Amino acid sequence: MFQSFLIKYGEIGIKGKNRFLFEDALVKQIKHALKNVDGEFEVFKQQGRIYAEAIGEFDYEEAIEALKKVFGIVGICPVVHVEDEGFEMLSQAVTEYMKKAHPELNQTFKVNARRARKNYPLDSMQINCSMGEKLLEAFPDMKVDVHNPDIMLNIEIREKIYIYSQIIPGPGGMPVGTNGKAMLLLSGGIDSPVAGYMVSKRGVKIDAIYFHAPPYTSERAKQKVVDLAKLVAVYSGPIYLHVINFTDIQLYIYEKCPHEELTIIMRRYMMRIAEHIAKETGSLGLITGESIGQVASQTMQSLAATNEVCTMPVIRPVISFDKQDIVDISQKINTYETSILPFEDCCTIFVAKHPVTKPNINIIKRSEKNLEEKIDELIETAIRTDEVIICD
Ligand code: ATP
Ligand code: MG
Repeated sequence: MFQSFLIKYGEIGIKGKNRFLFEDALVKQIKHALKNVDGEFEVFKQQGRIYAEAIGEFDYEEAIEALKKVFGIVGICPVVHVEDEGFEMLSQAVTEYMKKAHPELNQTFKVNARRARKNYPLDSMQINCSMGEKLLEAFPDMKVDVHNPDIMLNIEIREKIYIYSQIIPGPGGMPVGTNGKAMLLLSGGIDSPVAGYMVSKRGVKIDAIYFHAPPYTSERAKQKVVDLAKLVAVYSGPIYLHVINFTDIQLYIYEKCPHEELTIIMRRYMMRIAEHIAKETGSLGLITGESIGQVASQTMQSLAATNEVCTMPVIRPVISFDKQDIVDISQKINTYETSILPFEDCCTIFVAKHPVTKPNINIIKRSEKNLEEKIDELIETAIRTDEVIICD
């Protein structure tokens, strides 16, 4: 029944030059999202609006599903196109449209005409009145309500005439690419994919980094992280995933530092390496899935100790979320089932029985002095052997 979609987007804060950037980014993301949908689409801006127009047949459900995942879209309006063959034909087409789109035919409505083509013989007020009358005749159980109608029936006169009345909610947020780039520390857990999704929703492009410790962490654990990156990429667009071999660094810390401080020291090196690669690749911040108090390494003291090695902003979108709230989002975005697969993301031999929960930064720094001899070289090797996987 429908031939195109009118895309509604929030307009707060996108005046002037920003408006172009916002709209262009949105057009790009819509094109990307529709690529995998059965059918062919033309996506374009016209008179301050964005349209996705199908060329021929297409899969309607698939198209809606894809558009629902494009950040920046507030509403998706499926549109019917008719040729301009005079008002009588138009009123018949609108009547048919109402029967299909709103089969109950007992609600209140308002006709909202917009004459974008000025040579149309009726002006918008005349179209509103005449079409209103036609519809009241055709559907005696419907009523006009100009203030708060159930159905806002839009009729736009262009080269063709566009009819639409439904608004399917989009995800909101901002188009990816309008707010710079950040590096997501992506583990195989539940929290970090959700964190990546949330930041991406604010228009930030995302790269990811995973610290892999073969043979203590398996190939399947790595594949799980790749799969999670692909699931986040459904929303964020392609993710460049950096896989860092962390084994030698972990073993060296294990050898030289008190075991109860291991997790904190390991986390500090993860942050240092992530920041280094972020700087090299144009990311302006780091993202983690940390949440206060969830585990020993996420007390305020531990967060402070981890944060101390970073100069970039560290974004922690789920910092104050309860686990269940994070689980709810991961189910909504379809990462949960993959996240709970039982492949270890951190080898058990590296986890102390009684990790410090209130690390003292000075003590941690003193322990890190034990690493002076080889750590720089190990970090350099880890960064040099960085494996980049494009997840799309
Ligand atoms: P998640 O569910 O995201 O795995 P978590 O509750 O298991 O988080 P931690 O293991 O303490 O928490 O990790 C905290 C954060 O540190 C993670 O959310 C992630 O951002 C990052 N992180 C942990 N391990 C790794 C890893 N192997 N590679 C990349 N980032 C990691
Ligand atoms: Mg984890």
